[in-house]
Amino acid sequence: MFCMVRIFDKLILCSGNQARRFFATVPIEKRAHAYAGVNTHKPKEYWDYEAHVVNWGRFEEYKVGEKLGSGKYSEVFEAINTRNNEKCVIKFLKPVKKKRIKREVKILENLQGGPNIISLLDMVKDPVSRIPALIFEFVNNTYFKTLYQEFSDYDIRFYLYELLKALNYSHQMGIMHRDVKPANVMIDHENRKLRLADWGLAEFYHPYMAYNVRVASRYFKGPELLLDYKMYDYSLDMWSVGCILAQMIFMKTPFFHGLNNSDQLLQIVKVLGTDDLNSYLKKYQLHIKSISRNDLKRQPHVRKKLEKFVNNQNQHLVSLEALELLNRLLCYDHQERLTAREAMDHAYFYPVVKEQDIPSSTAM
Ligand code: ATP
Ligand code: MG
Repeated sequence: MFCMVRIFDKLILCSGNQARRFFATVPIEKRAHAYAGVNTHKPKEYWDYEAHVVNWGRFEEYKVGEKLGSGKYSEVFEAINTRNNEKCVIKFLKPVKKKRIKREVKILENLQGGPNIISLLDMVKDPVSRIPALIFEFVNNTYFKTLYQEFSDYDIRFYLYELLKALNYSHQMGIMHRDVKPANVMIDHENRKLRLADWGLAEFYHPYMAYNVRVASRYFKGPELLLDYKMYDYSLDMWSVGCILAQMIFMKTPFFHGLNNSDQLLQIVKVLGTDDLNSYLKKYQLHIKSISRNDLKRQPHVRKKLEKFVNNQNQHLVSLEALELLNRLLCYDHQERLTAREAMDHAYFYPVVKEQDIPSSTAM
């Protein structure tokens, strides 16, 4: 029997045995499957954020109002733009390296106008404290723990599809978000509007680049981060999407509830099992950190069927398509996860696509 083998960009015809030998010796491809070369083909100014010159606006134009929230890196307030009396949001950045601010601004500017990407309206500096602040469009967001409780099966499909539009666009533009979680997904339910916010950890994707694994929030960290695999790519965001979907359909907040990073990996293994973890470790030659090793070695875990999470409270939100999609997102092996574009074409979204009247292969 002969088969075609793809070795990086070349297709080679060989026998089954030859192919098996080949795969045992050829190093695995450590590049993103889709959109790997986006930044290679863009001009340097597009991704060289350190050279970006921020065009600061006038702080005096904004009247700061009530506090909306705060995060690790910022304090966010409602504000009024006195030029047009429009409501907006002012995000005061906590002290971080200038480089980081430039990265957030450059990424937001590059993604401006993309589907469901939060709009950056201005950048200002408090004249007294010199604290930099970003001005965004205001989203009348409801706290996700309250909001998700009232979601129907259709609502979940609808908002997840909106989130995928934003991610597909960002990945297509060569950018990984790296902090996808419910608190960064703003939803104005009354207007059925979703915006992907908080691009503070986002990064440009360059093939074979070793990235910092200290990104994303614990419950949404992909196995690659927990196993110290630095050559990750856009597929990291797809793991986080899987965690959000699981949290929504099973009404389990969060779906993987780790007490620390090593426990986070254990929580994942308790669902996906030890066998597939071992195959993942072997494929990428990864090693479990010593603190996690004891916990994981104590007993092997068999893979749980996702159906086990269905109960009387959540069964109205679960369908065969939802479970199938979830299985294609929550894969240890980041290369096996669906891309945002592939996920959008999944049968789970057919009712939404039908409603929006978009042919599934051209939907954005
Ligand atoms: P974290 O460290 O928690 O990830 P952060 O400091 O990077 O957060 P953001 O996530 O951008 O900051 O904003 C913090 C919070 O402020 C959000 O979770 C949300 O509640 C609120 N917020 C941010 N942007 C907006 C917006 N455009 N409209 C309404 N609320 C917003
Ligand atoms: Mg945030």
